[in-house]
Amino acid sequence: MNISIIGGGITGLTTALALHNAGISTKVYEQAEKLSEIGAGLWLQPNAVQIIDWLGIKEAVINEGCILNKMEIVYPNLRPIKKIKRAVVEDQYGNQTIAIHRGILQRILYDRCKQFNLVELGMPYISHQKRNNKNQLHFRNKTVSSDIVLGADGINSQVRKAMDLPSEYRHTGQICFRGIANISLPDNLQCEGKEVWGDKRRFGFSQLSANSVYFFIVLNKEICPQELNTTSLAAMFKDFDPIVADIIEASGDMHTAELIDLKRLDNWHNSTVCLLGDAAHATTPNMGQGACQGIEDAFYISHYLKEFSTSQDAFKAFEMQRRKKVDYVVNNSWNFGRMVHNQTGQKLLKVIMKLTPEKVMSKQLNSLYSLEEL
Ligand SMILES: Cc1cc2nc3c(=O)[nH]c(=O)nc-3n(C[C@H](O)[C@H](O)[C@H](O)COP(=O)(O)OP(=O)(O)OC[C@H]3O[C@@H](n4cnc5c(N)ncnc54)[C@H](O)[C@@H]3O)c2cc1C
Repeated sequence: MNISIIGGGITGLTTALALHNAGISTKVYEQAEKLSEIGAGLWLQPNAVQIIDWLGIKEAVINEGCILNKMEIVYPNLRPIKKIKRAVVEDQYGNQTIAIHRGILQRILYDRCKQFNLVELGMPYISHQKRNNKNQLHFRNKTVSSDIVLGADGINSQVRKAMDLPSEYRHTGQICFRGIANISLPDNLQCEGKEVWGDKRRFGFSQLSANSVYFFIVLNKEICPQELNTTSLAAMFKDFDPIVADIIEASGDMHTAELIDLKRLDNWHNSTVCLLGDAAHATTPNMGQGACQGIEDAFYISHYLKEFSTSQDAFKAFEMQRRKKVDYVVNNSWNFGRMVHNQTGQKLLKVIMKLTPEKVMSKQLNSLYSLEEL
């Protein structure tokens, strides 16, 4: 049995390593000729960190990232909306959230895959057809024959299109700016991730490495400045703690995009092809779980492909396992994002947060962070 993975993003590369760990032969085909360290930061939460650990790369990730032992939603003056006694946010194994540059994480995964010859770059997938029980995969300059295809080619997945799965994007009307600032946070903020809520505005940040800070800004479209630059964006936060403007002013290029997600697909697979990560269930980033869910996909699909003798059975078990958590993340993230950027919605969320006992919050986090033992 050979398996082709389309897309060498976080999901595709993690899946290749997970399959390799399971003793299954696989190859990732990535369209880019070269993987450059583009993108901004990611917060890898304990569910993903457990898998990163299982893959043997946790140390490398920690060495190039920053462990965050507190994640908080705060008022513009950085006072927490809800004071949580249990300061350290971790799972039962002590895994915490790690902030890391997306490009650096991709490089760590790629370097590990390269050791086992698991990736071919410069391979843009065009389409595939089934012939004599095999999938013929057409790339720009080559055709490859494969028993099983895993589509990890992101929200605009070509594999999904070739599978004829009807899909629809959902637009939030919120614009997100993400960047890296070349500064260091004061000592008391070094190991914390913060999301600051204002009216129709949100700002998130954390230390990423010794001299860099990852940040994101989310603004309702209608309040976006006409001229976009660090000065105009910093001015949007003049009533926030001054650290916010300092971070924005110290940043280089920013990635700007409207936040969108993928409307729930009825199905992620057919008999020999299955979608993973953003290709199957792209989510808005409000729970910081998009890449984490792609990493969970890698963990489960590798187990099921090892356990079952047919891909059809493995894919069925995979979808059954993954649907509940993925739906929870995508729906909550969508609703949460809408409420935070609406005055009444934000007020309501604050009341809910204040009234929810810490025990209940911990229980919700535990179920998000836990993995099923397979
Ligand atoms: C503002 C923002 C903040 C976020 N913050 C977080 C966070 O804190 N934590 C978190 O877990 N997630 C976060 N996410 C989500 C996370 O970035 C994504 O969920 C994750 O990167 C998706 O990974 P993927 O590998 O599934 O898809 P992608 O990253 O899109 O990778 C797809 C890969 O496939 C390749 N490809 C595409 N088409 C083809 C083709 N035709 N042939 C060959 N290769 C192809 C691409 O080049 C790419 O390398 C955030 C997202 C946004 C927008």
